[in-house]
Amino acid sequence: MDITPLQPSDYRAIVFFTGAGMSAESGIPTYRGKGGIWTKYRWEEVACEKAFRRDPEKVLTFHRERRLGVAACKPNVGHQVIAALEQQHPQVSVVTQNIDGLHNRAGSGRVIELHGSLWRLRCPSDGRRLEIEPGSDYPDRCECGAWLRPDIVWFGDSLDQNVITAAMESLAGCDLFVSVGTSGTVWPAAGFPQVARQNGAYSLEINPEANEISPLYDQAYRAPATQVLPRLFPSVTGPVRA
Ligand code: NAD
Repeated sequence: MDITPLQPSDYRAIVFFTGAGMSAESGIPTYRGKGGIWTKYRWEEVACEKAFRRDPEKVLTFHRERRLGVAACKPNVGHQVIAALEQQHPQVSVVTQNIDGLHNRAGSGRVIELHGSLWRLRCPSDGRRLEIEPGSDYPDRCECGAWLRPDIVWFGDSLDQNVITAAMESLAGCDLFVSVGTSGTVWPAAGFPQVARQNGAYSLEINPEANEISPLYDQAYRAPATQVLPRLFPSVTGPVRA
């Protein structure tokens, strides 16, 4: 496939908009692909507020297992290219739908996590938040005695308005918008390519498969993220962290 390299310095601000496909080559399954998690579990039983109220231990066990799975995976070269680019360019940000924390583990500093993080817990009672690390232990209950829930957006939850505002601010200022590995089916994130386009950004899609919002992009590369990103930004080399 022909890939035209981009010169980062040609752009004032770059936004990477990422979805589950970004982490697929790290070994974390997408939702809609083969082996997707909702082919094995019912979200009604493990990933919604109602299930948490009904059976918190079952929901927390499910998320503990997810964390073990994600902790065993490493950021891929795509995550690393994005993180390294941030070291070379003053305005690079990541707006991600992923909850796996792999952008942070690769070294990205400006990451807006639309759907929260597996690596943060929240007390539904007093609102306290607790950051946790892959590989280290963490409590199931808050100091106040309530069960701690994962600080992620479950089915039926609303997104945090501050997070949406931060994402919109990034989009408003960007002139290069690179979408990686999203099917564009989960809202409001699915509307972001349109917002970037309206703001005049040049937009690219990296995804082996086209989807409904593909026509919104100026250019598409139909190949996996790890094949496209290093060739799109060949000027970027950075420390490999995992
Ligand atoms: P999705 O599962 O709906 O779609 C994944 C997309 O990635 C598809 O369009 C697929 O063609 C593409 N893809 C697959 N392999 C790829 C690769 N190697 N390189 C580039 N693209 C590839 O995911 P979504 O659009 O992110 O929406 C699903 C929701 O579920 C989101 O909230 C998402 O964050 C969440 N989710 C997160 C994780 C994670 O944190 N890693 C994993 C699964 C789902």
